[in-house]
Amino acid sequence: MITASPTSRLLTPATGWREAWRDAITDPRELLAAVGLADRPDLLPADDAGFPLRVPRGFVARMRQGDARDPLLLQVLPQQAEHAEAPGYSVDAVGDMAAKAGHGLLHKYDGRALLIASGSCAVNCRYCFRRHFPYGEEIAAAAGWREALAHVAADTSIRELILSGGDPLSLATHKLEELTRGLAAMPHVIRLRIHTRLPVVLPERVDDAFTAWLAALPLQKVVVLHANHANEFDASVDAACACLREAGATLLNQSVLLRGVNDDADALAALCERSFAAGVLPYYLHQLDKVTGAAHFEVADAEALALVEALRARLPGYLVPKLVRELPGDPSKRPIADFAR
Ligand SMILES: *Cc1c(COP(=O)(O)O)cnc(C)c1O
Ligand code: SF4
Repeated sequence: MITASPTSRLLTPATGWREAWRDAITDPRELLAAVGLADRPDLLPADDAGFPLRVPRGFVARMRQGDARDPLLLQVLPQQAEHAEAPGYSVDAVGDMAAKAGHGLLHKYDGRALLIASGSCAVNCRYCFRRHFPYGEEIAAAAGWREALAHVAADTSIRELILSGGDPLSLATHKLEELTRGLAAMPHVIRLRIHTRLPVVLPERVDDAFTAWLAALPLQKVVVLHANHANEFDASVDAACACLREAGATLLNQSVLLRGVNDDADALAALCERSFAAGVLPYYLHQLDKVTGAAHFEVADAEALALVEALRARLPGYLVPKLVRELPGDPSKRPIADFAR
């Protein structure tokens, strides 16, 4: 066990992260009031298209006051545009639903197996495939994990276990401990990767107990964060990232290219610079999954390529994310350049 770092103490209010989780804003009118837009009920759609608003207050505090086009607000506020019909968009854009409904293990790519460790998220991102998949609260928990882990144990080609979701950090730390205890008996698994948005949207989650668990894991550790805009970072996120790094994790960031949120070179360059200031390297810039209700966020491939070229011209190579799209049946994420050819 490591002793907790001073930074992590700052992050851990007496109430803990569960409290902050439960305290999230779920009423669209309350959200508008919180960002100084109480006079703009016209921004709200007639209904939330079956995917309710959910956003932690700390994330809301990073939104600009009185700005209906705020890039953080647009990621979480239900919009009328979600009801528009869009050809090519479906409820299962990545073709994973069948696999996700099973014991939660997706083994699509060589050497890496991805476990849907939890279906819960602290935030509901409007562009997410999850809006159409009614996960149970902890779909792969306990009994399910045994089955998934048995598969990982039996397949020595798996070098890396990826915890994903939903958000795997929505699980209690003792649940994560349960999950990773068995990995010690699998010498072929050398890396644990965690895909999570929580250190960004609810940095309180990176508390002393979690940091101690991560630090004590006898594996290489990679944490892939998810931030789409520089404004998502603040001192609380910096502190959470510092704790993750002190616990021995390599930090990467993946983003989704979103119309109106980060679809310009200045915004993307600022995101890459700001995440690196927090000790996080840009990893992927994803083209949107074509999920029903998200078409208004789409950026055309040609425009996306031009944006990444602009980034390449002004940033060090290590700050330029790889532009990719996930397609059913592919052996890896597909670089967009391959489409253009
Ligand atoms: C994205 C993904 C991975 C990880 O791919 P990387 O290119 O290594 O980041 C692994 N498994 C599944 C099922 C995925 O969707
Ligand atoms: S899975 Fe990620 S993108 Fe989707 S709602 Fe959860 S945090 Fe947002």
